[in-house]
Amino acid sequence: MGKKKSILTSLLCISVVPLLVLGICMAYMTWNSVYTATLSEAQNTLSVAAHAAVDEINLMFPGPITEEDGVMKKGNADLGEAYDLIDAFRKNNKLHIVIFYGGKSAISTLEGYDEDSEAFEAPKDVSYYVSEKRMEYYSTKLLLSGEKQVAYCIPISSKGDGMLMVCQPLSVVVNHANTIALKSLMLSLVVLLIVSVICVIFVNRLGSALTQIKDYLSKIAVKGETPVLAREVAERKDEIGDIGRFAVNVNDELDKLINTDPLTGLYNRRAGRVELLKRLAANPDKLTIVMGDIDHFKKVNDTYGHEMGDVVLKKVSQVIAENMKERGFAARWGGEEFVLVFDKPYNLAYDYTGRILNQIRNILFDSDGGEFQVTMTFGVTPYEDGMQMDELLRTSDEKLYYGKEHGRNRIIGVDEK
Ligand code: GH3
Ligand code: MG
Ligand code: MG
Repeated sequence: MGKKKSILTSLLCISVVPLLVLGICMAYMTWNSVYTATLSEAQNTLSVAAHAAVDEINLMFPGPITEEDGVMKKGNADLGEAYDLIDAFRKNNKLHIVIFYGGKSAISTLEGYDEDSEAFEAPKDVSYYVSEKRMEYYSTKLLLSGEKQVAYCIPISSKGDGMLMVCQPLSVVVNHANTIALKSLMLSLVVLLIVSVICVIFVNRLGSALTQIKDYLSKIAVKGETPVLAREVAERKDEIGDIGRFAVNVNDELDKLINTDPLTGLYNRRAGRVELLKRLAANPDKLTIVMGDIDHFKKVNDTYGHEMGDVVLKKVSQVIAENMKERGFAARWGGEEFVLVFDKPYNLAYDYTGRILNQIRNILFDSDGGEFQVTMTFGVTPYEDGMQMDELLRTSDEKLYYGKEHGRNRIIGVDEK
Protein backbone atom coordinates (compact mmCIF):
# COMPACT_ATOMS: atom_id res chain seq x y z
CA MET A 1 0.00 0.00 0.00
CA GLY A 2 1.27 3.50 -0.83
CA LYS A 3 2.12 6.15 1.72
CA LYS A 4 -0.93 7.52 3.53
CA LYS A 5 -1.89 11.00 2.38
CA SER A 6 -3.62 13.57 4.52
CA ILE A 7 -6.79 15.13 3.11
CA LEU A 8 -5.65 18.43 4.61
CA THR A 9 -2.55 18.35 2.38
CA SER A 10 -4.68 17.55 -0.67
CA LEU A 11 -7.16 20.32 0.14
CA LEU A 12 -4.32 22.79 0.65
CA CYS A 13 -2.74 21.67 -2.65
CA ILE A 14 -5.93 22.16 -4.64
CA SER A 15 -6.69 25.54 -3.09
CA VAL A 16 -3.46 27.35 -2.23
CA VAL A 17 -1.22 26.08 -5.06
CA PRO A 18 -3.47 27.36 -7.90
CA LEU A 19 -3.80 30.60 -5.95
CA LEU A 20 -0.04 30.97 -5.76
CA VAL A 21 0.42 30.14 -9.47
CA LEU A 22 -2.32 32.64 -10.34
CA GLY A 23 -0.63 35.21 -8.10
CA ILE A 24 2.75 34.71 -9.77
CA CYS A 25 1.20 34.96 -13.27
CA MET A 26 -0.73 38.09 -12.25
CA ALA A 27 2.41 39.63 -10.76
CA TYR A 28 4.36 38.95 -13.97
CA MET A 29 1.56 40.35 -16.14
CA THR A 30 1.27 43.43 -13.93
CA TRP A 31 5.00 44.08 -14.11
CA ASN A 32 5.01 43.54 -17.87
CA SER A 33 2.11 45.87 -18.58
CA VAL A 34 3.49 48.54 -16.23
CA TYR A 35 6.88 48.28 -17.98
CA THR A 36 5.30 48.56 -21.46
CA ALA A 37 3.09 51.46 -20.34
CA THR A 38 6.07 53.28 -18.84
CA LEU A 39 8.09 52.93 -22.05
CA SER A 40 5.20 54.20 -24.15
CA GLU A 41 4.72 57.07 -21.70
CA ALA A 42 8.45 57.81 -22.04
CA GLN A 43 8.05 57.96 -25.84
CA ASN A 44 5.23 60.50 -25.49
CA THR A 45 7.14 62.59 -22.99
CA LEU A 46 10.31 62.62 -25.10
CA SER A 47 8.34 63.43 -28.28
CA VAL A 48 6.57 66.36 -26.62
CA ALA A 49 9.88 67.52 -25.11
CA ALA A 50 11.73 67.28 -28.45
CA HIS A 51 9.07 69.34 -30.26
CA ALA A 52 8.97 71.91 -27.45
CA ALA A 53 12.78 72.25 -27.50
CA VAL A 54 12.89 72.61 -31.30
CA ASP A 55 10.10 75.21 -31.20
CA GLU A 56 11.90 77.21 -28.53
CA ILE A 57 15.28 77.09 -30.29
CA ASN A 58 13.70 78.05 -33.61
CA LEU A 59 11.90 80.91 -31.89
CA MET A 60 15.08 82.24 -30.30
CA PHE A 61 17.37 81.43 -33.19
CA PRO A 62 15.35 81.35 -36.40
CA GLY A 63 16.85 79.79 -39.53
CA PRO A 64 18.60 76.56 -40.44
CA ILE A 65 21.92 75.34 -39.05
CA THR A 66 24.88 76.17 -41.26
CA GLU A 67 28.63 76.00 -40.96
CA GLU A 68 30.72 79.00 -41.90
CA ASP A 69 34.51 78.89 -41.54
CA GLY A 70 34.31 76.03 -39.03
CA VAL A 71 31.74 77.92 -36.90
CA MET A 72 28.24 76.43 -36.47
CA LYS A 73 25.48 78.97 -36.96
CA LYS A 74 21.78 78.83 -36.28
CA GLY A 75 20.31 81.48 -38.52
CA ASN A 76 22.55 84.45 -37.88
CA ALA A 77 23.55 83.45 -34.38
CA ASP A 78 26.39 81.27 -33.20
CA LEU A 79 24.88 77.80 -32.38
CA GLY A 80 26.94 77.79 -29.18
CA GLU A 81 24.58 80.49 -27.86
CA ALA A 82 21.80 77.87 -27.80
CA TYR A 83 23.73 75.84 -25.18
CA ASP A 84 22.33 77.83 -22.21
CA LEU A 85 18.85 77.18 -23.54
CA ILE A 86 19.26 73.40 -23.82
CA ASP A 87 21.07 73.28 -20.48
CA ALA A 88 18.18 75.08 -18.81
CA PHE A 89 15.86 72.61 -20.53
CA ARG A 90 17.88 69.70 -19.12
CA LYS A 91 17.71 71.14 -15.61
CA ASN A 92 13.95 71.71 -15.81
CA ASN A 93 12.98 68.43 -17.43
CA LYS A 94 15.84 66.13 -16.39
CA LEU A 95 16.19 65.17 -20.05
CA HIS A 96 19.37 65.51 -22.09
CA ILE A 97 19.45 67.29 -25.45
CA VAL A 98 21.89 66.75 -28.29
CA ILE A 99 21.88 68.82 -31.48
CA PHE A 100 23.50 67.04 -34.43
CA TYR A 101 24.81 68.62 -37.59
CA GLY A 102 26.52 66.87 -40.44
CA GLY A 103 26.18 63.49 -38.71
CA LYS A 104 28.06 64.76 -35.63
CA SER A 105 27.10 66.33 -32.33
CA ALA A 106 27.20 70.12 -32.42
CA ILE A 107 26.10 70.83 -28.81
CA SER A 108 25.08 68.37 -26.07
CA THR A 109 24.10 68.24 -22.40
CA LEU A 110 25.11 64.60 -22.08
CA GLU A 111 27.51 63.88 -19.24
CA GLY A 112 31.11 64.15 -20.36
CA TYR A 113 30.33 66.45 -23.27
CA ASP A 114 30.67 70.22 -23.20
CA GLU A 115 31.38 72.98 -25.66
CA ASP A 116 35.08 72.12 -25.76
CA SER A 117 34.68 68.35 -26.12
CA GLU A 118 35.20 66.55 -29.32
CA ALA A 119 32.05 66.03 -31.34
CA PHE A 120 30.68 62.45 -31.38
CA GLU A 121 29.02 60.71 -34.26
CA ALA A 122 25.27 60.45 -34.51
CA PRO A 123 24.15 56.79 -34.62
CA LYS A 124 23.76 55.71 -38.24
CA ASP A 125 20.08 54.80 -37.95
CA VAL A 126 19.31 58.21 -36.52
CA SER A 127 21.17 60.05 -39.32
CA TYR A 128 19.44 57.90 -41.93
CA TYR A 129 15.87 58.35 -40.71
CA VAL A 130 16.01 61.89 -39.37
CA SER A 131 18.64 63.71 -41.44
CA GLU A 132 18.06 62.01 -44.75
CA LYS A 133 14.42 60.90 -44.62
CA ARG A 134 13.23 63.84 -42.45
CA MET A 135 11.32 61.40 -40.15
CA GLU A 136 11.01 61.22 -36.40
CA TYR A 137 12.94 58.45 -34.64
CA TYR A 138 12.40 56.67 -31.32
CA SER A 139 14.61 54.05 -29.74
CA THR A 140 14.76 52.44 -26.29
CA LYS A 141 18.34 51.20 -26.60
CA LEU A 142 20.46 53.79 -28.25
CA LEU A 143 24.05 53.55 -27.00
CA LEU A 144 25.18 57.09 -26.14
CA SER A 145 27.46 58.47 -23.46
CA GLY A 146 28.43 54.93 -22.46
CA GLU A 147 24.95 53.73 -21.62
CA LYS A 148 21.70 52.72 -23.24
CA GLN A 149 19.37 55.66 -23.76
CA VAL A 150 15.70 56.02 -24.50
CA ALA A 151 15.87 58.68 -27.24
CA TYR A 152 13.56 60.67 -29.46
CA CYS A 153 15.03 62.53 -32.41
CA ILE A 154 13.43 65.01 -34.86
CA PRO A 155 14.72 67.36 -37.60
CA ILE A 156 15.52 70.79 -36.21
CA SER A 157 14.21 72.78 -39.14
CA SER A 158 12.22 72.16 -42.28
CA LYS A 159 15.24 72.85 -44.43
CA GLY A 160 18.84 71.68 -44.37
CA ASP A 161 20.70 69.32 -42.09
CA GLY A 162 20.44 69.32 -38.33
CA MET A 163 18.51 67.26 -35.85
CA LEU A 164 17.63 67.44 -32.16
CA MET A 165 17.61 64.45 -29.85
CA VAL A 166 16.02 64.30 -26.41
CA CYS A 167 17.15 61.33 -24.37
CA GLN A 168 17.12 59.74 -20.96
CA PRO A 169 19.12 56.75 -19.66
CA LEU A 170 17.14 53.51 -20.06
CA SER A 171 18.05 52.63 -16.45
CA VAL A 172 16.10 55.69 -15.22
CA VAL A 173 12.99 54.61 -17.16
CA VAL A 174 13.34 51.00 -15.99
CA ASN A 175 13.79 52.12 -12.37
CA HIS A 176 10.68 54.28 -12.67
CA ALA A 177 8.76 51.33 -14.15
CA ASN A 178 10.05 49.03 -11.39
CA THR A 179 8.99 51.46 -8.66
CA ILE A 180 5.43 51.63 -10.02
CA ALA A 181 5.34 47.88 -10.68
CA LEU A 182 6.67 47.17 -7.20
CA LYS A 183 3.81 49.12 -5.65
CA SER A 184 1.13 47.19 -7.54
CA LEU A 185 3.09 44.01 -6.97
CA MET A 186 3.10 44.62 -3.22
CA LEU A 187 -0.64 45.31 -3.32
CA SER A 188 -1.25 42.07 -5.26
CA LEU A 189 0.95 40.18 -2.80
CA VAL A 190 -0.94 41.55 0.21
CA VAL A 191 -4.29 40.60 -1.40
CA LEU A 192 -2.86 37.18 -2.30
CA LEU A 193 -1.60 36.71 1.24
CA ILE A 194 -4.97 37.64 2.76
CA VAL A 195 -6.84 35.32 0.35
CA SER A 196 -4.32 32.52 1.05
CA VAL A 197 -4.69 32.93 4.82
CA ILE A 198 -8.51 32.85 4.52
CA CYS A 199 -8.16 29.80 2.27
CA VAL A 200 -5.86 28.03 4.76
CA ILE A 201 -8.20 28.83 7.66
CA PHE A 202 -11.22 27.41 5.81
CA VAL A 203 -9.32 24.36 4.54
CA ASN A 204 -8.00 23.78 8.06
CA ARG A 205 -11.50 23.91 9.52
CA LEU A 206 -12.73 21.54 6.84
CA GLY A 207 -9.80 19.19 7.46
CA SER A 208 -10.23 19.28 11.23
CA ALA A 209 -13.99 18.60 10.88
CA LEU A 210 -13.20 15.56 8.73
CA THR A 211 -10.56 14.42 11.24
CA GLN A 212 -13.07 14.77 14.07
CA ILE A 213 -15.61 12.67 12.16
CA LYS A 214 -12.89 10.08 11.47
CA ASP A 215 -11.94 10.02 15.17
CA TYR A 216 -15.60 9.71 16.10
CA LEU A 217 -16.10 6.76 13.72
CA SER A 218 -12.93 5.03 14.90
CA LYS A 219 -14.08 5.29 18.53
CA ILE A 220 -17.37 3.57 17.70
CA ALA A 221 -15.45 0.36 17.15
CA VAL A 222 -13.52 0.66 20.44
CA LYS A 223 -15.04 -1.26 23.36
CA GLY A 224 -15.95 0.89 26.35
CA GLU A 225 -15.51 4.20 24.49
CA THR A 226 -18.44 6.58 24.27
CA PRO A 227 -17.63 8.80 21.30
CA VAL A 228 -18.81 12.40 21.32
CA LEU A 229 -18.96 14.39 18.10
CA ALA A 230 -17.41 17.87 18.50
CA ARG A 231 -20.04 20.62 18.67
CA GLU A 232 -18.52 22.65 15.85
CA VAL A 233 -18.94 19.65 13.52
CA ALA A 234 -22.45 18.76 14.71
CA GLU A 235 -23.55 22.39 14.19
CA ARG A 236 -22.10 22.75 10.68
CA LYS A 237 -24.79 23.48 8.12
CA ASP A 238 -23.02 21.84 5.17
CA GLU A 239 -22.56 18.26 3.91
CA ILE A 240 -19.71 17.68 6.40
CA GLY A 241 -22.14 18.50 9.23
CA ASP A 242 -24.65 16.09 7.60
CA ILE A 243 -22.02 13.32 7.56
CA GLY A 244 -21.21 14.01 11.23
CA ARG A 245 -24.88 13.95 12.26
CA PHE A 246 -25.44 10.83 10.14
CA ALA A 247 -22.52 9.12 11.92
CA VAL A 248 -24.06 10.04 15.30
CA ASN A 249 -27.48 8.67 14.21
CA VAL A 250 -25.91 5.44 12.95
CA ASN A 251 -23.99 5.10 16.22
CA ASP A 252 -27.14 5.73 18.28
CA GLU A 253 -29.06 3.14 16.24
CA LEU A 254 -26.19 0.66 16.59
CA ASP A 255 -26.09 1.36 20.31
CA LYS A 256 -29.79 0.67 20.58
CA LEU A 257 -29.46 -2.49 18.52
CA ILE A 258 -26.59 -3.77 20.64
CA ASN A 259 -27.88 -2.72 24.05
CA THR A 260 -31.65 -2.91 23.85
CA ASP A 261 -33.94 -5.88 24.06
CA PRO A 262 -36.12 -5.58 20.92
CA LEU A 263 -39.32 -6.91 22.51
CA THR A 264 -39.44 -4.84 25.69
CA GLY A 265 -37.20 -1.84 24.89
CA LEU A 266 -35.32 -2.40 28.18
CA TYR A 267 -31.53 -2.90 28.33
CA ASN A 268 -30.53 -6.44 27.41
CA ARG A 269 -28.43 -8.54 29.78
CA ARG A 270 -25.09 -7.45 28.23
CA ALA A 271 -25.90 -3.72 28.50
CA GLY A 272 -27.37 -4.27 31.96
CA ARG A 273 -24.08 -5.76 33.18
CA VAL A 274 -22.06 -2.91 31.63
CA GLU A 275 -24.32 -0.27 33.20
CA LEU A 276 -24.28 -2.01 36.60
CA LEU A 277 -20.48 -2.20 36.53
CA LYS A 278 -20.31 1.53 35.74
CA ARG A 279 -22.54 2.39 38.68
CA LEU A 280 -20.66 0.09 41.03
CA ALA A 281 -17.42 1.83 40.01
CA ALA A 282 -18.87 5.33 40.41
CA ASN A 283 -21.01 5.42 43.55
CA PRO A 284 -22.01 1.96 44.79
CA ASP A 285 -23.03 2.90 48.37
CA LYS A 286 -26.67 3.60 47.60
CA LEU A 287 -27.18 0.81 45.05
CA THR A 288 -29.83 -1.83 45.54
CA ILE A 289 -30.09 -4.78 43.18
CA VAL A 290 -33.45 -6.45 42.57
CA MET A 291 -34.04 -9.58 40.56
CA GLY A 292 -37.62 -10.32 39.46
CA ASP A 293 -39.37 -13.10 37.57
CA ILE A 294 -42.93 -13.51 36.31
CA ASP A 295 -44.70 -16.35 38.11
CA HIS A 296 -45.90 -19.33 36.17
CA PHE A 297 -45.23 -17.62 32.90
CA LYS A 298 -45.04 -20.92 31.08
CA LYS A 299 -48.71 -21.35 31.94
CA VAL A 300 -49.52 -17.99 30.37
CA ASN A 301 -47.92 -19.13 27.14
CA ASP A 302 -49.55 -22.51 27.30
CA THR A 303 -53.00 -21.17 28.12
CA TYR A 304 -53.23 -17.92 26.13
CA GLY A 305 -50.59 -18.43 23.47
CA HIS A 306 -47.03 -17.22 22.93
CA GLU A 307 -48.20 -13.92 21.42
CA MET A 308 -50.20 -13.17 24.54
CA GLY A 309 -47.07 -14.04 26.49
CA ASP A 310 -45.23 -11.34 24.52
CA VAL A 311 -47.99 -8.83 25.32
CA VAL A 312 -47.55 -9.62 29.02
CA LEU A 313 -43.76 -9.20 28.77
CA LYS A 314 -44.18 -5.80 27.07
CA LYS A 315 -46.74 -4.53 29.56
CA VAL A 316 -44.77 -5.72 32.60
CA SER A 317 -41.61 -4.11 31.14
CA GLN A 318 -43.47 -0.84 30.58
CA VAL A 319 -44.59 -0.74 34.22
CA ILE A 320 -41.04 -1.51 35.39
CA ALA A 321 -39.50 1.13 33.06
CA GLU A 322 -41.93 3.85 34.21
CA ASN A 323 -41.18 3.13 37.85
CA MET A 324 -37.42 3.08 37.31
CA LYS A 325 -37.30 6.56 35.73
CA GLU A 326 -34.95 8.83 37.73
CA ARG A 327 -34.44 5.96 40.20
CA GLY A 328 -32.08 3.66 38.30
CA PHE A 329 -32.47 1.29 35.37
CA ALA A 330 -33.91 -2.09 34.48
CA ALA A 331 -32.74 -4.84 32.14
CA ARG A 332 -34.39 -7.94 30.74
CA TRP A 333 -32.06 -10.60 32.09
CA GLY A 334 -33.57 -13.39 30.02
CA GLY A 335 -37.02 -14.91 29.28
CA GLU A 336 -39.37 -13.44 31.90
CA GLU A 337 -36.62 -12.46 34.30
CA PHE A 338 -35.60 -8.84 35.03
CA VAL A 339 -32.89 -7.05 36.99
CA LEU A 340 -33.74 -3.69 38.53
CA VAL A 341 -30.84 -1.53 39.72
CA PHE A 342 -31.91 1.27 42.04
CA ASP A 343 -29.66 4.25 42.76
CA LYS A 344 -31.50 4.26 46.08
CA PRO A 345 -30.95 2.88 49.56
CA TYR A 346 -32.49 -0.47 50.43
CA ASN A 347 -35.70 0.76 52.14
CA LEU A 348 -36.69 3.05 49.29
CA ALA A 349 -35.82 0.43 46.67
CA TYR A 350 -37.88 -2.16 48.57
CA ASP A 351 -40.89 0.19 48.62
CA TYR A 352 -40.58 1.00 44.92
CA THR A 353 -40.41 -2.73 44.14
CA GLY A 354 -43.60 -3.16 46.18
CA ARG A 355 -45.30 -0.53 44.05
CA ILE A 356 -44.19 -2.28 40.88
CA LEU A 357 -45.48 -5.64 42.11
CA ASN A 358 -48.83 -4.06 43.02
CA GLN A 359 -49.21 -2.38 39.65
CA ILE A 360 -48.38 -5.61 37.81
CA ARG A 361 -50.83 -7.64 39.93
CA ASN A 362 -53.58 -5.19 39.03
CA ILE A 363 -53.19 -5.36 35.26
CA LEU A 364 -56.09 -7.21 33.69
CA PHE A 365 -55.04 -8.96 30.49
CA ASP A 366 -57.74 -9.66 27.99
CA SER A 367 -57.36 -12.58 25.60
CA ASP A 368 -59.50 -14.94 23.54
CA GLY A 369 -59.17 -17.46 26.33
CA GLY A 370 -60.52 -14.99 28.88
CA GLU A 371 -59.19 -12.37 31.27
CA PHE A 372 -56.22 -13.09 33.49
CA GLN A 373 -53.63 -11.45 35.77
CA VAL A 374 -49.99 -12.18 36.49
CA THR A 375 -47.81 -11.88 39.56
CA MET A 376 -44.07 -11.59 40.07
CA THR A 377 -41.55 -12.61 42.66
CA PHE A 378 -38.57 -10.36 43.57
CA GLY A 379 -35.33 -10.72 45.52
CA VAL A 380 -33.81 -7.48 46.89
CA THR A 381 -30.12 -7.04 47.86
CA PRO A 382 -28.53 -3.77 49.00
CA TYR A 383 -24.89 -3.10 48.16
CA GLU A 384 -22.52 -3.70 51.03
CA ASP A 385 -18.88 -2.73 51.22
CA GLY A 386 -16.63 -4.71 48.92
CA MET A 387 -19.42 -6.64 47.15
CA GLN A 388 -18.76 -7.55 43.54
CA MET A 389 -21.39 -7.48 40.81
CA ASP A 390 -21.75 -11.23 40.49
CA GLU A 391 -22.14 -11.64 44.25
CA LEU A 392 -24.90 -9.03 44.33
CA LEU A 393 -26.69 -10.72 41.43
CA ARG A 394 -26.28 -14.19 42.93
CA THR A 395 -27.67 -13.06 46.29
CA SER A 396 -30.70 -11.46 44.63
CA ASP A 397 -31.22 -14.60 42.57
CA GLU A 398 -31.09 -16.77 45.68
CA LYS A 399 -33.75 -14.57 47.32
CA LEU A 400 -35.85 -14.79 44.19
CA TYR A 401 -35.52 -18.58 44.24
CA TYR A 402 -36.48 -18.58 47.91
CA GLY A 403 -39.56 -16.48 47.04
CA LYS A 404 -40.51 -18.95 44.33
CA GLU A 405 -40.14 -21.78 46.82
CA HIS A 406 -42.22 -19.96 49.40
CA GLY A 407 -45.40 -19.10 47.58
CA ARG A 408 -44.30 -16.66 44.79
CA ASN A 409 -46.06 -13.24 44.31
CA ARG A 410 -43.84 -11.64 46.96
CA ILE A 411 -40.69 -9.69 47.65
CA ILE A 412 -37.82 -11.25 49.56
CA GLY A 413 -35.67 -8.67 51.30
CA VAL A 414 -32.66 -8.88 53.62
CA ASP A 415 -34.64 -10.07 56.64
CA GLU A 416 -36.61 -12.77 54.89
CA LYS A 417 -33.87 -15.16 54.00
P1 GH3 B 1 -41.78 -19.74 37.70
O1 GH3 B 1 -42.92 -19.18 38.42
O2 GH3 B 1 -41.09 -20.82 38.53
O3 GH3 B 1 -40.84 -18.75 37.21
O4 GH3 B 1 -42.39 -20.55 36.50
P2 GH3 B 1 -42.32 -20.13 35.00
O5 GH3 B 1 -43.31 -20.90 34.25
O6 GH3 B 1 -42.48 -18.65 34.93
O7 GH3 B 1 -40.86 -20.48 34.60
P3 GH3 B 1 -40.27 -21.36 33.46
O8 GH3 B 1 -38.83 -21.12 33.48
O9 GH3 B 1 -40.73 -22.79 33.66
O10 GH3 B 1 -40.91 -20.80 32.14
C1 GH3 B 1 -40.56 -19.63 31.54
C2 GH3 B 1 -41.23 -19.51 30.24
O11 GH3 B 1 -41.05 -18.27 29.62
C3 GH3 B 1 -40.73 -20.55 29.25
C4 GH3 B 1 -40.56 -19.79 27.96
O12 GH3 B 1 -41.18 -20.38 26.88
C5 GH3 B 1 -41.15 -18.45 28.23
N1 GH3 B 1 -40.52 -17.40 27.52
C6 GH3 B 1 -39.23 -17.05 27.57
N2 GH3 B 1 -39.03 -16.00 26.75
C7 GH3 B 1 -40.20 -15.67 26.18
C8 GH3 B 1 -40.62 -14.68 25.23
O13 GH3 B 1 -39.86 -13.87 24.74
N3 GH3 B 1 -41.92 -14.65 24.89
C9 GH3 B 1 -42.81 -15.55 25.38
N4 GH3 B 1 -44.08 -15.46 25.02
N5 GH3 B 1 -42.42 -16.49 26.24
C10 GH3 B 1 -41.16 -16.57 26.65
MG1 MG C 1 -41.08 -17.38 35.80
MG1 MG D 1 -37.63 -17.57 34.82
